[in-house]
Amino acid sequence: MDNILTVEHVSKSYTGHKALDDVSLEVPRGAIYGLLGPNGAGKTTLIKLLTRLYDPTSGVILLDGRDIRDYDPSELYRLFGIIFQDFGKYAVSVTENIHFGDIRKEVKEEEIRKAAEEADATDYIGHLPNGFDTPLMRIFEENGIELSIGQWQKLAIARAFYSDSDVLILDEPTASLDPMAEQEIFNQFDRLRADKTTIFVSHRLSSATVASKIAVLEYGKLIEEGDHRTLMAKRGRYYELFSTQAKRYVTEGEAVLEEVPEDVRPHRVPPSGMPPHGHSNVGHPNGGHPHPMGAGKSRKE
Ligand code: ATP
Repeated sequence: MDNILTVEHVSKSYTGHKALDDVSLEVPRGAIYGLLGPNGAGKTTLIKLLTRLYDPTSGVILLDGRDIRDYDPSELYRLFGIIFQDFGKYAVSVTENIHFGDIRKEVKEEEIRKAAEEADATDYIGHLPNGFDTPLMRIFEENGIELSIGQWQKLAIARAFYSDSDVLILDEPTASLDPMAEQEIFNQFDRLRADKTTIFVSHRLSSATVASKIAVLEYGKLIEEGDHRTLMAKRGRYYELFSTQAKRYVTEGEAVLEEVPEDVRPHRVPPSGMPPHGHSNVGHPNGGHPHPMGAGKSRKE
């Protein structure tokens, strides 16, 4: 079966307010699927329906062709790895925080370290007083260490890599990370989860270029779906959102992102797209990294 998840004519109302309105979409197996759209568009609601925190008011969601309501919840939670914006912080050691990604596994130092590496967390863990054994938070341990929000976020991502779930769902998991770290992590999704499915919500459109498929929601409706290149060529809502964000990154003396079409570039940048003095990648929404798959290249569709 090509699609792991199929959303068919799904609507969701909260006390009369329609948060999702007749949404149909397909998440191909092995895809990196990005959900984009402005605040209140219905992205988190869709994630909550996929993970059965709520059920749709109408319509159906199929996992491998079977209504998700027919699955035993424990079976669903085994298949799904979820990181919400308000991810868990636990007053235990770094190792145990990562091990919570899959408590059925025996703690193996090597696997814990691998997950931390994949989440780009080993650098700061190496600087903690006791490395992986450092107790976190000052609730039970006086010498417990407080982490920054971005450091907690990397730990939550390490937990997700450790769990190795078939479908990893991330609701703005990287919002507190600096753009370089975020791009590194999205690159890892592509490299490490080639045979797994990843669904993510992000407000940073630079991360959407990694997605093999992107859905744009607005006022509860699915308004566009496709990969980065297709949606840019369409010159619709995605093109508009992407161009607006890309413009914000471009300042005098910095390189212009090649995907930003000439007619939306700021006037002070020469039309050739070359910076007036020297060349720098600092303002590149991809954080200066080459695109991992070539912009908008589809993986497994
Ligand atoms: P954001 O980008 O701000 O996180 P979103 O696209 O994830 O937004 P949702 O959180 O899905 O949007 O919200 C969609 C709509 O549903 C909003 O109008 C919101 O006010 C409403 N909503 C969400 N959760 C509830 C709830 N539990 N009860 C009532 N209304 C809700």
